[in-house]
Amino acid sequence: MDFRFSPEEEAFRQELRVWLKDNVPADWEGTFLEEDDETWRFGRTFVKKLAQKGWAAPSWPREYGGMDASPALQLLYNEEIGYHRAPIGSIVQAVGYIGPSILSFGTEEQKQQHLPPIAAGEIVWCQGFSEPGSGSDLASLQTRAVRDGDDYVINGDKIWTSNAHRSDWCILLARTDPEARKHRGISFFLVDMKTPGINVQPIVNMAGVHSFNQVFFEDVRVPSSALLGQENQGWYIAAMTLDFERSSLVAAGVSMAKRGLDDLVGYCRETRVDGESLLDNPLVRHKLAEIAIETEVGKYMVYRVVSQQARKEPGSTEAAVCKLYNTEIAVRVANAGIQILGLHGQLHGDSKGARLRGSFAKSYLYAIAMVVGGGSSEIQRNIIAMRGLALPRA
Ligand SMILES: Cc1cc2nc3c(=O)[nH]c(=O)nc-3n(C[C@H](O)[C@H](O)[C@H](O)COP(=O)(O)OP(=O)(O)OC[C@H]3O[C@@H](n4cnc5c(N)ncnc54)[C@H](O)[C@@H]3O)c2cc1C
Repeated sequence: MDFRFSPEEEAFRQELRVWLKDNVPADWEGTFLEEDDETWRFGRTFVKKLAQKGWAAPSWPREYGGMDASPALQLLYNEEIGYHRAPIGSIVQAVGYIGPSILSFGTEEQKQQHLPPIAAGEIVWCQGFSEPGSGSDLASLQTRAVRDGDDYVINGDKIWTSNAHRSDWCILLARTDPEARKHRGISFFLVDMKTPGINVQPIVNMAGVHSFNQVFFEDVRVPSSALLGQENQGWYIAAMTLDFERSSLVAAGVSMAKRGLDDLVGYCRETRVDGESLLDNPLVRHKLAEIAIETEVGKYMVYRVVSQQARKEPGSTEAAVCKLYNTEIAVRVANAGIQILGLHGQLHGDSKGARLRGSFAKSYLYAIAMVVGGGSSEIQRNIIAMRGLALPRA
């Protein structure tokens, strides 16, 4: 196997790296979803600059604002974006899996309407899939869309909707045929968040941050042109959207974990406890070595999935292995950081005793979210067992 990138790809990596160093402050701790108003504004400005370079949606076709990038170029891009903790939270869903779903199933009119504004960094999207009673078993969802002339009327509620309070548009799953078997009666809609009858209520997460929401739909009337694909084809489209989501989630995740490891190594190199360098502590050395091995293994799992995608081979089992392993690495890196930094590790960036700008206090609380979002580890294990090992359904 040859894991080298071409000279052109390496040249792009260099150009992107230099640009990221110029545009992401060196002390930027990275914020997953640019939660507060200030980081959100910074993230939006950053995304617009990225879009001006033509770099917001590399793998998309040029005609819709992308770069026609190969899977290898997209991989390298994700590695740099993740490692530099680039603040792309406002477009990460739209670029990573909403746009690709529109590309795969949208009419030409829908593609023209929605894709260029995403690639220009102008429009924010959210994902209205989960409901209070439907998460892992998403197909049991209860939100209804009833056909009324040329419109559909939507009633129901969605939960854990990241960024809904800042979004212009939403992808929404709703039941259009309550008589059909649960996977068969669902449709996929593109909904303007300004439509009357939509009520967004905040949910504050355990890090004290408002990034989730519960979104209520009361007699929300959308035109039939809001349907993506065919009526009742929604589950099929959603399954592909979730595949796109899983691969986009892990793509930058390993390099974020690698960055966490490098920060920890740097900290240990500079820190002495009772006159002894932290790097001389055998427990610390072993922990760092263990994580170094795991991040390297995780990286090659990503390379394997990308090379399957490049050969257009099916690879949902490998993608599930990759999602499971790599999101759990992020948790292990965060745990290691908290252990090595000791009590200082629990302090947030604005505290006097904080270390590494409080980044581990934050990632410790956030890393677990990636294990759950996009399908929990248990669900990935079910996929690996059934599709990969052909075990019977439990
Ligand atoms: C950071 C984050 C962002 C999110 N953003 C969005 C968003 O923007 N839009 C959106 O629609 N949703 C979003 N979600 C919701 C996410 O998709 C769900 O949380 C996830 O699918 C799990 O569903 P649930 O929370 O209802 O848990 P449940 O499905 O109730 O699961 C509870 C526990 O039971 C386990 N479990 C469930 N079923 C099985 C099974 N068959 N076998 C073994 N174990 C099982 C699960 O692994 C989990 O540990 C987000 C979640 C997170 C954490």
